[in-house]
Amino acid sequence: MITRFAPSPTGPLHLGHAYSAMLAHDMAMAAGGRFLLRIEDIDQSRARPKWEQQIYDDLEWLGLSWEVPVMRQSDRLSVYSDVLEDLWQRGYLFACDCKRRDIFDAVSAPHAGPVMGPDGLVYPGTCYAQAFDPVLFNHGHNRLPHDPDRAYRLRMSMAAETVCEPCMKTSSDRGVMFTEAMMGPNGEKGDVVFGDHTLIHGIGDVVLARRDMGTSYHLSVVVDDAAQGVTDVVRGQDLFEATAIHVVLQRLLGLPTPRYHHHKLIHDEAGRRLAKRDDARAIALYRSEGASPDDIRRMVGLPAPS
Ligand code: GLU
Repeated sequence: MITRFAPSPTGPLHLGHAYSAMLAHDMAMAAGGRFLLRIEDIDQSRARPKWEQQIYDDLEWLGLSWEVPVMRQSDRLSVYSDVLEDLWQRGYLFACDCKRRDIFDAVSAPHAGPVMGPDGLVYPGTCYAQAFDPVLFNHGHNRLPHDPDRAYRLRMSMAAETVCEPCMKTSSDRGVMFTEAMMGPNGEKGDVVFGDHTLIHGIGDVVLARRDMGTSYHLSVVVDDAAQGVTDVVRGQDLFEATAIHVVLQRLLGLPTPRYHHHKLIHDEAGRRLAKRDDARAIALYRSEGASPDDIRRMVGLPAPS
């Protein structure tokens, strides 16, 4: 078993991160497997060396150890670019100029009901039609322009057409499936199916290369989990829906689908989900107030290490 913890160095680690990291670590150790750490720093406008250092310090203090060298996504931009080029040549991407405001206005029009997907409002397809030139795509003549002012989106309907298989488990005829080894936000367990209708209308043409960034969380996480041979992805239930996107990408790219363990989210005393800006729950703060790693384990409901 190979598990990983994949934080973004954009703020301090809080209790929710500690839970995720310890769970992934303990699971790998109990199985005699390997635990990896990956720094997800593609958003260079928000990533900071001090937060990366703090991640190492906090995880070490928690008693975790990981393999070195640590993979950092900012070192792998050319790998993501090659994958995007491949998807572009195969016609699965289109360029998108829309600003957040354009999308909001389009989905707020009276005839269209806004739908929320894992990345926010489901894209209304504004740039889709004019972007599609099957002759160019089919002949692979044009290379991905890498225009930093544009995003590149996945043509979800075309992707779904390629990757969806007959799935007996749900009323949906065709879909993609993965194994949920822990629990989704609505109690999902075992074989989970996302049907083609959900993929196309509930998730839509998600961004795979963000403006100015040349990649996205979805693309990088899929490429890197495969590159590192991760067999078991342990992460919060907030990413359950995003997993559908990841499975679609794995199928398109011929990559294996790991087992997924979506864990409970850690809430504060008022029942709110913890976010990185909640510095009050930062591990570093508990440390400075004299808490021990076992106190942190107790707070998130994990047993002391054996
Ligand atoms: N970098 C992502 C985060 O910090 C990782 C999510 C994942 O585990 O896939 O939320």
